[in-house]
Amino acid sequence: MAQETPLYKKGGGFLLAETPAGEMFTPEEFSEEQRMFAQAADEFMEKEVLPHNDRIEQQDFDLLRDLMKKAGALGLLAVDIPEKYGGLGLDKVSSMLIAERMAKQGSFSVTWGAHTGIGTLPIVFFGTEEQRQKYLSGLASAEIIGAYALTEPGAGTDAMNIKTRAVLSDDGKYYILNGNKQFITNAAIADLFTVFAKVDGEKFTAFLVERDTPGLELGAEEKKLGIKGSSTRSLTFTNVRVPVENVVGEIGKGHHIAFGILNIGRYKLGVGAVGAAKEALKVAVNYAKERVQFGRPIADFGLIQEKLAHMATRIFVTETMAYRLAGLLDEAMAGLDPNAPDYTQKSWNAVAEYAVECSVLKVYGSEMLDYVVDETMQIFGGYGYTQEYPAERYYRDSRINRIFEGTNEINRILIPGMLMRRALKGQIPLIPMAAKTAKETLTLMPTMMPRPEGPFSNEKFALGMAKRIALTLAAVAADKFKENIRNEQEVLAGLADIVTEVYAIESILLRALKSGDALMASIVEMYTYEAMKRIELRAYEILPYMSEGDELRTLISTVRKLVRPFTPPNLIQKRREIARKVIDLGRYPF
Ligand SMILES: Cc1cc2nc3c(=O)[nH]c(=O)nc-3n(C[C@H](O)[C@H](O)[C@H](O)COP(=O)(O)OP(=O)(O)OC[C@H]3O[C@@H](n4cnc5c(N)ncnc54)[C@H](O)[C@@H]3O)c2cc1C
Repeated sequence: MAQETPLYKKGGGFLLAETPAGEMFTPEEFSEEQRMFAQAADEFMEKEVLPHNDRIEQQDFDLLRDLMKKAGALGLLAVDIPEKYGGLGLDKVSSMLIAERMAKQGSFSVTWGAHTGIGTLPIVFFGTEEQRQKYLSGLASAEIIGAYALTEPGAGTDAMNIKTRAVLSDDGKYYILNGNKQFITNAAIADLFTVFAKVDGEKFTAFLVERDTPGLELGAEEKKLGIKGSSTRSLTFTNVRVPVENVVGEIGKGHHIAFGILNIGRYKLGVGAVGAAKEALKVAVNYAKERVQFGRPIADFGLIQEKLAHMATRIFVTETMAYRLAGLLDEAMAGLDPNAPDYTQKSWNAVAEYAVECSVLKVYGSEMLDYVVDETMQIFGGYGYTQEYPAERYYRDSRINRIFEGTNEINRILIPGMLMRRALKGQIPLIPMAAKTAKETLTLMPTMMPRPEGPFSNEKFALGMAKRIALTLAAVAADKFKENIRNEQEVLAGLADIVTEVYAIESILLRALKSGDALMASIVEMYTYEAMKRIELRAYEILPYMSEGDELRTLISTVRKLVRPFTPPNLIQKRREIARKVIDLGRYPF
């Protein structure tokens, strides 16, 4: 990234600098072309996919393949593939808009996501010219279906520990693969697998393995809780001969591909959660409007309205964070020449820059969706628990999102870990800023401090305090544990949650400032207050572990001082206001 990039635009920079409101991309700024792509994806889902929900859920894989081909014909598989290889090479905002729409049907969404993401992108970013020419146009049209095989029975989260071996044949023309892979999405319909194996048991490497290569066998379909219409199988490799020209990237560098590709999967998962949650909210509110108890639609009741308001709020937060990230990615890639030889390397660097934000979105989005589908089921009452209504499927389909693309535990650990790595590489001035902030904070008198001018004065002030708490705790943790911090998982997860709330508050505040919308303003006031309470609690959980005696008392009272100056807004009133809009529109209100 160029040196003059302002700090607030750098990956993780949101924690250290103020972003001017005008500088953040928001959904209100989608271009006509971006909206057209979203609409095409919407129509495809409504006309082609959703009517076949039952057949998809019964694992009609012929239908799934046909649907993928139809999606391919509409360009919905080609978004992230450069034009010169038969793709559309669209911007990341369009790419996210399409991912959001695809998520209306969980099984299809996972099939589509694995194909266009982990099944295609290793070739886009790391393939040789021959590999790109050979496979990408087929992947764009679904003539070829892609899959990605990293996980093994003994190596899930601990993916560096894979045991699949690759040994060069005596004639030097093939790598011979032996080993087992577990939980491979699209296995039943895939023609091409990106397989990770260790050359000579040591050098982590990616290989392209075609489905009909002798020695590659598929296991039975896993019987899953949800996303039942997607295929998940194990793979067995017995002396599978893979031509040397099918090595992707460099021998021994496959882990960069394996883990880097997941960053893209993570932001797509986050935005997919937005699409799935909007669908669940729509179904839930319309049921609430029709279902009558005590002579009134249940949507009239305060506790149902409270749920609808929380659901819409959390979707709004995730949506805003997602498109902020898409805007940053597009800006980082703007000006890159798609025909330049270093184009893919530079666009890869742009995604790597925002790996922290990708993890934030994955964790927040997956937990938001679990919350939304849980409340959807609650709104449906006993009927929600039956297969007659979609609430039950939404509930089952959502749960996988906290497990794959790096479990949420691992992503929580990664968030502060990656921030620290960027700091140590000199990419962001986290260490000096945290130390300086911590020192200042201990003597600060927030009640005496002037409030920012203009709208959202309280919330802007709160955001400043939230950043201050995050940086102070980071400095205390770094001082206490030094390099052993990596073993203090509960502290890291606490920091991750605080950092995530900072990103959330800032994102919605900037969006509301930019749009001037009154309902967004209510959401910002409500959410900021609630998020500050969560930040306070998280701080109280980790501080007594990091400090004691007078120092602990001072730190606790400092955190209390930093969050105290906020009078609670009329939360009940604001929630009713948000719910009213959801009820009137019968859907997510923005
Ligand atoms: C439906 C489905 C589709 C999938 N699709 C694919 C695919 O297409 N390709 C592919 O390669 N893989 C795929 N996976 C695999 C998926 O990515 C893994 O299941 C996931 O990475 C977790 O690995 P694991 O299941 O072995 O769990 P484990 O790694 O055994 O983890 C179990 C628990 O321990 C926790 N844990 C593990 N290590 C740590 C640690 N260091 N610190 C704290 N907690 C830890 C985890 O967070 C988790 O809660 C899929 C899985 C499913 C269920």
